[in-house]
Amino acid sequence: MTTTRPEDLGRALAQLDGTGARPRAGGTDLTACLAAGVLEPAPVVDLAGVRELHGVEWLPDGAARLGALTTVDELAADPRLAGAYPALAATARELATPQVRNAATLGGNLLQRNRCWYLRNPAFDCFHTGGDSCPARGGDHLYGVVVDQGPCVAPHPSSLAVALLAYDASVLVAGADEQERAVADLYDAAAPARDHVLEPGQVLVSVRLPVPREGERAAYRRATGRSRAEWPLVEAVTRVVLHEGRVSHAAVAVGGVARTPLRLPGVEAALTGARPGRHWGPKVEESLAALADLCSPLPATGYKVDLMRATVRDVLERALEVPGR
Ligand SMILES: Cc1cc2nc3c(=O)[nH]c(=O)nc-3n(C[C@H](O)[C@H](O)[C@H](O)COP(=O)(O)OP(=O)(O)OC[C@H]3O[C@@H](n4cnc5c(N)ncnc54)[C@H](O)[C@@H]3O)c2cc1C
Ligand code: SF4
Repeated sequence: MTTTRPEDLGRALAQLDGTGARPRAGGTDLTACLAAGVLEPAPVVDLAGVRELHGVEWLPDGAARLGALTTVDELAADPRLAGAYPALAATARELATPQVRNAATLGGNLLQRNRCWYLRNPAFDCFHTGGDSCPARGGDHLYGVVVDQGPCVAPHPSSLAVALLAYDASVLVAGADEQERAVADLYDAAAPARDHVLEPGQVLVSVRLPVPREGERAAYRRATGRSRAEWPLVEAVTRVVLHEGRVSHAAVAVGGVARTPLRLPGVEAALTGARPGRHWGPKVEESLAALADLCSPLPATGYKVDLMRATVRDVLERALEVPGR
């Protein structure tokens, strides 16, 4: 297997175009997939030297553009980023282990393969590996989706995508042409064979965040089966802004529950105008109860209905500093 190390985007795209080569960023997922036989052997284009993918740029309007090779650790530790985008920094801080955060990149995180154990075991075929069925659906899907959107039942794996969805962020993708698309459009629940919509040969160049909101409060929480080095069963992130004691802006997103990260517009609408406190009113409580209506559990994932509600409540209470919680 050959590895090339282009120094600019033009060369990287040329080496990926029609060659079957795979781009590598931090390599924390790609290397494991190639070693385990989850992916067919293929030449690797190492993106580490591609200068256009590096760096954090602050735009004249105060928004940030993050190069795809920005590491998870940089997202967690950069004080200016953490001040402007606290929900993203909080999510990055909780992700994986220090070693993984140090190597893993923003682009690679958004484009990693899902964690389904059938997919990760080359002995099984499924939609993702050229097969025509999903063995997890009728098999062991304990960590599967609770919002069943299509043939594949593996939850979306990227924690950063959940936070970026809460920011309505967008990504710049280069290939035959250059495209800007919303993070929400990077994933398609109905496509059973793919974890994201990028075509072979395309490179995720950068992520664009919105202009920061002054006074934003944020929280990220995850429920896991063990205390560290684990993907979450359910994760939730929230951003809220208060004005004169009431919520003037709310964004709430969840992961681990569906094929894509999800925004929760019902909860956001109920929160807007609410006064934080031990009793934030029936509308918010009703919107949390209504999360059950979103769910269509598989036989083994019913536990995620309550877990999602509890995790969302937890992030809201933390972000709003509800007393006595
Ligand atoms: C113990 C452990 C726990 C973890 N827990 C979590 C967790 O809680 N949440 C979470 O989100 N992740 C978690 N991860 C996954 C980890 O975050 C990902 O492996 C990592 O983010 C992938 O980034 P990378 O730069 O190493 O990508 P790579 O492994 O280099 O690439 C991943 C995929 O993206 C493609 N790719 C990479 N960059 C680009 C680009 N710029 N353009 C086009 N394609 C590209 C590659 O071809 C490959 O298919 C965990 C990993 C481990 C080992
Ligand atoms: S289709 Fe999805 S859930 Fe089913 S086995 Fe493949 S990756 Fe797993």
